[in-house]
Amino acid sequence: MHKALPVAAALAVCALAALPTQAATVTTKGRGWKLTTQLGVTSLSPGRQYTITFATSAMKTRYTPYLTAAVSQAKAAGLKLAIGGVEPVNPAKCGPVGHIQFTELYRPLGRAGYSQGMPCPNPSKGVGTGGIVAIDSEYWDGTWPIPAYKLRNTLVHEPLHALGLDHPNLDLNKDGKTADYECVAAPSGETPIMCSPNGGYRTAPGTGRLTGFDLDGLKALLANARAQGIK
Ligand SMILES: [Zn+2]
Repeated sequence: MHKALPVAAALAVCALAALPTQAATVTTKGRGWKLTTQLGVTSLSPGRQYTITFATSAMKTRYTPYLTAAVSQAKAAGLKLAIGGVEPVNPAKCGPVGHIQFTELYRPLGRAGYSQGMPCPNPSKGVGTGGIVAIDSEYWDGTWPIPAYKLRNTLVHEPLHALGLDHPNLDLNKDGKTADYECVAAPSGETPIMCSPNGGYRTAPGTGRLTGFDLDGLKALLANARAQGIK
């Protein structure tokens, strides 16, 4: 038999339910992953299609083989992510909602060998809308020799930025500095593919694949949306 709730208790339940849920339910970092809160991205919509597109058909041909494994993993984790077609890309401007746009630039960060990925900043309710990836053209003209595993991991690292993952580097050795490559590692040795400036698996068949850390980050983005009632 159910007992009727005292009125005061019922009111208290209503008052709690009316509170904004964001502060209590959004998780922005965990072991080996971190969200891009400084650009206002805290979630990815589980119902929205996210599509990787390319500035030219040559780029689509070039990059697709590097992305397929990671895209399959992201899909298996619940993210509607697909490799799409070709469209005009203006690196200074966000494209259509849900698009992660690939292009190539010479030293997009002004620094030899560095590529850039970023989400469209401050989307409504923190729900990522895609972003821009600018790959350093030096990888392809021979002026910046890059080992195959680093190239593969970099080409996956950048679109993950566009989806809302940041570098999870930490000051693990407590020397007061969060240094390059200073990231947690799995027992099998790999650091997150989001570790700056490079992380991920170093040997085949792992290279270019998301680590468990990165998958946890993507799952957190989706969970944050669900926790806020975002479809
Ligand atoms: Zn990065």
